[in-house]
Amino acid sequence: MIDAEVLDGGRLLPLVEDFYTVQGEGFHTGKAAYFIRLGGCDVGCSWCDAKYTWNPRLYPPTPVGEIVRRAVECAAQSIVITGGEPLLYPLGPLTEELKRQGLQIFLETSGSHPFSGVFDWVCLSPKHKQPPLDEAYGRADELKVIICGEEDFEWAEDNASHVGDGCMLYLQPEWSVSERIMPSIVEYVKRNPRWNISIQSHKYMRIP
Ligand code: SF4
Repeated sequence: MIDAEVLDGGRLLPLVEDFYTVQGEGFHTGKAAYFIRLGGCDVGCSWCDAKYTWNPRLYPPTPVGEIVRRAVECAAQSIVITGGEPLLYPLGPLTEELKRQGLQIFLETSGSHPFSGVFDWVCLSPKHKQPPLDEAYGRADELKVIICGEEDFEWAEDNASHVGDGCMLYLQPEWSVSERIMPSIVEYVKRNPRWNISIQSHKYMRIP
C-alpha cells in the first residue's frame, strides 16, 4: 500500500486509467459514464480481470484536480469510481470536487475497507477472500454477487440478508465460466425473482 502521507489525505490518488465509456454492468448498464480506476487491491480474487491494478506503486499519485479536470472535459454526467479497491484511499477530496462540478458519482467496491467520500450510488460486490465490513451493507444501493459455481448462490443469499430493503440484487456470472454457469443463474432468478441478472455487456460491446 502507499503511505497516507504520500497521498496528501486523498488529494493525490494512484490513477491507473480514466476514460469515457458506457457502463456495462449492474443497475446503470447502458449509461454513458466517465470511469476513474484507482490502483491497489489487497483482496486477491483468483479470477480478477484487473490484476494489473493490484500494486498501487505502479501508478502515479495524481492530483485530484487533474482527474476532475479531465472528467469535466467530456459530456459525462456520471462518474464511476472503481479499481482495484478504491476505498483503500480517502475519497473525500475527489468526490467532493466531482460533486461541486454537478456530477453523479457511482462507487464500485468490495466493501472490505472503511467508507470515505460522498456517493449517489454504491455498488457493493462482496468477495469471499475479504468479505465486506458491516457498514458497507448499509451503504449499498446495489448488491452485485459474482457467481463462479453453484455454492455461490448461498453466498449471495447470505450477503443479501445484510443489505437494506431497497437494495437492488444482482447475480453476475464470472466471465470465464459464464457459458457454463448461466443456465443455473437463469433458473435461480426465475425461482427467486427478487434477484436480477447482470452480465458484463461491455465485453460483448468490445468497449473498456
Ligand atoms: S476485489 Fe475486485 S479488484 Fe480486487 S481482486 Fe477482487 S475482483 Fe480484483
